[in-house]
Amino acid sequence: MISLYCALVHYPVRDRAGNTVTASLTNLDVHDISRLAFTYGLRGYFVITPLMAQQTLAKRILDYWKTGAGKHRMPERSLALGLCRPLSSLERAIEQIQLETGKPPRVLATAARPPQVSAISSFQAEAMRLQQSEDPVLILFGTSHGLDRSILDRADAILEPIRGHRGYNHLSVRCAAAITLDRLVGSN
Ligand code: SAM
Repeated sequence: MISLYCALVHYPVRDRAGNTVTASLTNLDVHDISRLAFTYGLRGYFVITPLMAQQTLAKRILDYWKTGAGKHRMPERSLALGLCRPLSSLERAIEQIQLETGKPPRVLATAARPPQVSAISSFQAEAMRLQQSEDPVLILFGTSHGLDRSILDRADAILEPIRGHRGYNHLSVRCAAAITLDRLVGSN
């Protein structure tokens, strides 16, 4: 059984100028990536932000769908959103996974343009690893203009960038998450 988690990081991320910033949470990212995570059998999806107001917003969205009117209106959506949990930092997410699985996760970061000196790992290698081991894996997706260098350096490896047929490859995080999960644990 695969033990795969993902996280959407809102801090620390980079802005257009390369500064370290905190990005705002969006309702769309909560819903779309929860549905993705549920579809691909992930054990959890963490929305990471240090801002209490943003964590409260995430909890409000989730409460509506997990226990409120949304649960009755769209029960299947309620199931998907049940995977989503707001946490204050990457370290909290790692601790939570260790609590649930007994082991700290292998942390994989993602980026359209990884730094030159990064430890890049292929989708094929990581898909194989997931098939052959029940050790937990946490995949990090960024917001704004991408994960801060401190997060990329903290990861055990950076997944190879998704490339199309042109030099441009800056995907929305929802598209990137969908392609990544399908390449790692999709049925085909
Ligand atoms: N320039 C940013 C970067 O280098 O990732 C693009 C940011 S994009 C709006 C937000 C997130 O989507 C990224 O942090 C990454 O997690 C994911 N992402 C976007 N394009 C990607 C690609 N081509 N390959 C892998 N991940 C990608």
